[in-house]
Amino acid sequence: MAISTETPPQQQHKGSSEGAAVDQKRWTLNDFDIGKPLGRGKFGHVYLAREKRSNHIVALKVLFKNQLKQSQVEHQLRREVEIQSHLRHPNILRLYGYFYDQKRVYLILEYAAKGELYKELQKCKYFSERRAATYVASLARALIYCHGKHVIHRDIKPENLLVGAQGELKIADFGWSVHTFNRRRTMCGTLDYLPPEMVESVEHDANVDIWSLGILCYEFLYGVPPFEAKEHSDTYRRIVQVDLKFPSRPVVSSAAKDLITQMLVKDSSQRLPLKKLLEHPWIVQNAEPSGVYRG
Ligand code: ATP
Ligand code: MG
Repeated sequence: MAISTETPPQQQHKGSSEGAAVDQKRWTLNDFDIGKPLGRGKFGHVYLAREKRSNHIVALKVLFKNQLKQSQVEHQLRREVEIQSHLRHPNILRLYGYFYDQKRVYLILEYAAKGELYKELQKCKYFSERRAATYVASLARALIYCHGKHVIHRDIKPENLLVGAQGELKIADFGWSVHTFNRRRTMCGTLDYLPPEMVESVEHDANVDIWSLGILCYEFLYGVPPFEAKEHSDTYRRIVQVDLKFPSRPVVSSAAKDLITQMLVKDSSQRLPLKKLLEHPWIVQNAEPSGVYRG
């Protein structure tokens, strides 16, 4: 499936959204009732919407073609759509389909009723160990699924995680993800979450996501990422040296620290594999078996 801002639209199967009948017609804006705005993105806005025939509630992400062109991210968007539309996992935000008109591109996304995890973390400052472990375990399962399909996310961070109606985490934003069979050498993502091999621009593979999950686990438990510094150059240095320190407050169990230490390893081949992570005592003892944190 290819998305294009220039070539004429291809005939596309409608009905990848559950409940909607399959036919040959393409999606158009007329197929949706548009509701309240859910948020603003870099290239457009996201609205709550209802597919008229199925009554299915979705999030409609509206991107402006001229902005996509100006920033030269059309290729990246096409890759994001191609990858995300093929993934089916309870902890990965579904992309049901897309359509476009002269000015805009529309992405039909699964609606995440509880919004951004980032806001929740800001509100709480940091999460309990049960909550953090539940999230980390569900993300590990989602990443095992992605890696099994040769997809590396490369941009795991709180801003890219949404929360579903039941409290389940959903990985969103596959803008930096790649479908890969060989090792990659591209600079991407936000500095705080970048592993040493990406900061140093050497080759990297799926193990970059283990690193980012380790950073995320730390940020869940402490409220700040581990290598934070005022200057970029200091964050850079701390990442490359794996200058990992655990503050005395908030109090975090040694089992959690052990897990983080095993994930934040400079040599990417020595990081704790995600399947092993799921067997780690901290995860086994703290993560809700249902994968859903209910507070
Ligand atoms: P980019 O990551 O390209 O800069 P962005 O992160 O700013 O874009 P999005 O995250 O896609 O843009 O969307 C903006 C906001 O809209 C989100 O932060 C979130 O609050 C809301 N939002 C986006 N998608 C959904 C969704 N599927 N369900 C609920 N809310 C959403
Ligand atoms: Mg985002």
